[in-house]
Amino acid sequence: MEEWLDTLYGKHGLYYCVECGKCVAVCPMQDIFCRFDFEISPRGIIKKAALHSDILKDEALWFCLECSACTDACPAGVKYRDFMNDLRSLSIERGNIKNIYVCEICGRYYSPRAVLTHLKDRLHYGDSDYLSICPDCRENSFIDTIRDTFHASGPGL
Ligand code: SF4
Ligand code: SF4
Repeated sequence: MEEWLDTLYGKHGLYYCVECGKCVAVCPMQDIFCRFDFEISPRGIIKKAALHSDILKDEALWFCLECSACTDACPAGVKYRDFMNDLRSLSIERGNIKNIYVCEICGRYYSPRAVLTHLKDRLHYGDSDYLSICPDCRENSFIDTIRDTFHASGPGL
């Protein structure tokens, strides 16, 4: 195993995993994605990361919702959500961006492609601009709209 991965395994307690499967049982990905298999499950990622050094390029990294249910349920104290968060940050740092959306305004990482695509489908948003920008930029754009409306209404309001 490469040194950086060994460090992450230690940092997030992955060496303590007893393969009980509780993390998989509580994971909401199974209710969301038609594709929910061992490969994208927390147990699958933990195993795969240990066996394959190219985990950072793996599409399977980009389905987790980072909800923390697995971490809360884990009897061994494995911090899977934080592990996933670090893996994704490293993956993006190394230029693997084909499975993510970046904000159309600020250009920062915004959401995994699979998660946002699911959200757009569920909400029937299609290619709406609303979900093409990150929450910070959405908030700023909302504030700008309010400010413009206020100025247009004149100083009497
Ligand atoms: S719940 Fe914890 S110990 Fe059980 S398989 Fe998942 S990560 Fe391993
Ligand atoms: S953090 Fe990810 S792997 Fe863990 S329960 Fe939530 S969606 Fe599943």
